[in-house]
Amino acid sequence: MTMKKIGFVGLGIMGKPMAMNLLKAGHSLTVYDIVSEKIKELVAAGAKAGASSKDVAQQSEIVITMLPNSPEVKEAVLGPGGVLEGAKSGTILIDMSSIAPLASKEVAEHAGQKGVVMLDAPVSGGEPKAVEGTLAIMVGGPQETFDRVKDILGLMGASVTRVGEIGSGNMTKLANQIIVALNIAAMSEAMVLAAKAGVDPEKVFQAIRGGLAGSTVLDAKMPLVLKGNFKPGFRIELHIKDLANALDTAHEVGVPVPLSGAVMEVMQALKVDGKGADDHGGIIQFYEKLAKAQVRQG
Ligand code: NAD
Repeated sequence: MTMKKIGFVGLGIMGKPMAMNLLKAGHSLTVYDIVSEKIKELVAAGAKAGASSKDVAQQSEIVITMLPNSPEVKEAVLGPGGVLEGAKSGTILIDMSSIAPLASKEVAEHAGQKGVVMLDAPVSGGEPKAVEGTLAIMVGGPQETFDRVKDILGLMGASVTRVGEIGSGNMTKLANQIIVALNIAAMSEAMVLAAKAGVDPEKVFQAIRGGLAGSTVLDAKMPLVLKGNFKPGFRIELHIKDLANALDTAHEVGVPVPLSGAVMEVMQALKVDGKGADDHGGIIQFYEKLAKAQVRQG
């Protein structure tokens, strides 16, 4: 693979390990985050410090952003000192954040006016897979641009799939987030029932994980739930953000999503209860409180 000058903006739970994997592969990396502590860690590993998103773009052929939501992506790309102020015509912008599909289209349009081509490439898999470089990456944007950066995305993901034009990566991610949220809620409802009825939830987990109810969600979240470990991972407040984007998008398209609406309210209740920063596996705490029963052991 030819080595590239890559810029990386947003060095949080996900961005930091993803940037590390690009460094390990030998690419030259310039990084930026509004929290300067996060830049220092990457610099210690061999990256160059950028002074702003603009500065990162000035020094890069490819700019990757990994930010919380649509407003932050708009700020970092379109705002003062943002990527588009520094990018040259021909720069490729890959936004890997999970944002509203319409926001991806809007940012891509502005980028296009400066000759910058954008892909939306959100990920699934969480921090452990970001560290391993085995994320699932779902990409929207021009085929030709996708072909040029597929190998670079492959350093961060085990599967890299182009789904369609710009915005379709984030549309796919919304589908993913609906399925994950509803799975965790279903697991929680069932396991609190088993626990309160006096059946060991760990045995229930072992008994069903190989059957039709088995899932990646069940395997990833049950061991943590049994330990009462709700350290994120993926924060409930970030999942609220994704479900808000899912509800908005669904209503714009004309699709009622009743189960997503219900799980959204479960997550809102947890946020009011001070648990917004817990991992989304912590959804079980809502059901534990309702039923006055506990699934965690010890
Ligand atoms: P995070 O909050 O840990 O990281 C976001 C980083 O962006 C922070 O370091 C923050 O300081 C920085 N930032 C915010 N605004 C900025 C700006 N204007 N300019 C530069 N830096 C800025 O979040 P995360 O968990 O890494 O998630 C990032 C994205 O990935 C989100 O869209 C999230 O939904 C998605 N995602 C997260 C997970 C997960 O398990 N954590 C899994 C899949 C997808």
